[in-house]
Amino acid sequence: MSNEQNVNPLDEYFNGKFPKQPQSPPGLQKEMDPVPDCGEATYKGNDQLKGKRILVTGGDSGIGRAAAIAYAREGADVAIVYLPEEQPDADEVKKLIEAENQKAVLLPGDLRSEDFSKEIVEKTVSELGGLDVLALVAGKQQSTSNIEDITTEQLTSTFETNIYSMFWTIQAALPHLSEGASIITTSSIQGYSPSENLLDYASTKFAIRGFTIALAKQLAPKGIRVNSIAPGPIWTALQVTGGQPQDSIPEFGKETPLKRAGQPAELAHQYVYLASEKSNYVTGEISGITGGLPLG
Ligand code: NAD
Ligand code: MG
Repeated sequence: MSNEQNVNPLDEYFNGKFPKQPQSPPGLQKEMDPVPDCGEATYKGNDQLKGKRILVTGGDSGIGRAAAIAYAREGADVAIVYLPEEQPDADEVKKLIEAENQKAVLLPGDLRSEDFSKEIVEKTVSELGGLDVLALVAGKQQSTSNIEDITTEQLTSTFETNIYSMFWTIQAALPHLSEGASIITTSSIQGYSPSENLLDYASTKFAIRGFTIALAKQLAPKGIRVNSIAPGPIWTALQVTGGQPQDSIPEFGKETPLKRAGQPAELAHQYVYLASEKSNYVTGEISGITGGLPLG
């Protein structure tokens, strides 16, 4: 007999065809159709991160926004990093964090700059009084069919955003992180099963896996854990701003066993778990949230 309390994962959230909707990067998620679900109306906190001070890159939209909202609802103060063009999305996140009576710090700027990648740590520490969790979610993805068409500018920009900034931010953060701190990176199914049109992006996502595992070993003696989340196809601004060719947008996510794209809200609990003491015996781990696409 079926239980009416159960939710079928196949038809939870949007599972129709997405309208084509080109925007130039980084894009605004408030202009997307449907607007990605970052748990604004649904995420319920349970004091799992009370008193923590958390820095989330890419916290204005998509997966980073879902993490930022969840962190605030779990009792954390949250600083978010985003590009200046994304101010309207970031303003909404600030309101959502403040609605939980938590502090919100807005840090607009470009993570391709070493100075900025380090400055965000100093600003977070001075505004929030310290730093306990780093959730590194910002990323750049541009679909390009042929390797010959990947310009050095795109290559550099993708590696600086996805890889270099992680080094710089963590270098600046380490003096402030104490035992029990947690670092969370964001890899991808593309770091296991790369698409032919995402050569530069997929390379960075493979690199993030290696970085996470090696850094976890390096920081374990200090009592600092490092883990990564590898999402499958998730409905976000990254995808409609050139992450996929527009022709692939209507069927985005349909290739998964669960036959739909994931929503950012479906990743929030894992970002919370890896930030909290509940995962204290977990480090160097990469968790897939992929709609059933196998990692490896
Ligand atoms: P998103 O566009 O909503 O978020 C990405 C964010 O990265 C942007 O909002 C922007 O603030 C930030 N960013 C990009 N370049 C930046 C720069 N130079 N300086 C400062 N900030 C910058 O999309 P998303 O899908 O939520 O992406 C979040 C992460 O998830 C990325 O690392 C992405 O690679 C990863 N990911 C996404 C998917 C997916 O299907 N959406 C799948 C696997 C992994
Ligand atoms: Mg954004």
